[in-house]
Amino acid sequence: VLEVEHLEKYYQKKHVLFDINLSIQQGEVVTLLGPSGSGKSTLIRCLNGLEEYQKGTIIFEGKKIVPTEKNWQQIRQKIGMVFQSYDLFPNLTVIDNILLGPIKVQKQDKSAARVEAKKLLKSVDLEDYADVYPRELSGGQKQRVAIVRALALHPDFMLFDEVTASLDPEMVRGILNIIKGLANMDNMTMIVVTHEMNFAQEIADRVVFLENGHILEQTPAKQFFSKPKTDRAQAFLDSMD
Ligand code: ATP
Ligand code: MG
Repeated sequence: VLEVEHLEKYYQKKHVLFDINLSIQQGEVVTLLGPSGSGKSTLIRCLNGLEEYQKGTIIFEGKKIVPTEKNWQQIRQKIGMVFQSYDLFPNLTVIDNILLGPIKVQKQDKSAARVEAKKLLKSVDLEDYADVYPRELSGGQKQRVAIVRALALHPDFMLFDEVTASLDPEMVRGILNIIKGLANMDNMTMIVVTHEMNFAQEIADRVVFLENGHILEQTPAKQFFSKPKTDRAQAFLDSMD
């Protein structure tokens, strides 16, 4: 579903992604690992049009993306993204945060969208929170709303960038289980950036290991976690436990 060819990214003069090549199949779960500053967030933001790239091609569902803002807006209906900071709209209730995209942008039927939003909230144990404002929620609850908000757009593809990084440990498992459910039950195609190695191991089909803006290896997950191809990835794994 997604191909990246020879992507290069600069922030002004600073070269941060070098000749990135990726090919992701329908239903595949890829975890993107690498040290802090290696370019993980930058790469997935490029895949959602949140960052410009200077060279290379992204092909989504068979079509080369012409990177205009208008095209990206359409693609963001299909490629959902959840970040570390959940950025809900503070002046909207939970349910209105979720319904904004489906109703205003996608013109989904209002009552059907509302029914579905409630169902999604129930699936993350937040059925009683539809009418509260984000400020009344804990971090883990906000993050669950952010995930539901992305899913309400019926994406074909999800990007998760360290969605548990700002959460208390007891909140983490709940969020990870939701993502795991999407991967296993719903067979969602996704790229997951995480520092939770156990989770990465549970969920990933393939690991892409990034360092200093270069993909050092792409390895089936089982193999990566037992014996990665590069010494650098081995050192990274050793540093994580
Ligand atoms: P972390 O694990 O800490 O989240 P990361 O792998 O996500 O790190 P990025 O945030 O993608 O790393 O950053 C890659 C490089 O790009 C870093 O050297 C960073 O300093 C630089 N960078 C990131 N965002 C910007 C920006 N808006 N302007 C300039 N440089 C940036
Ligand atoms: Mg990051």
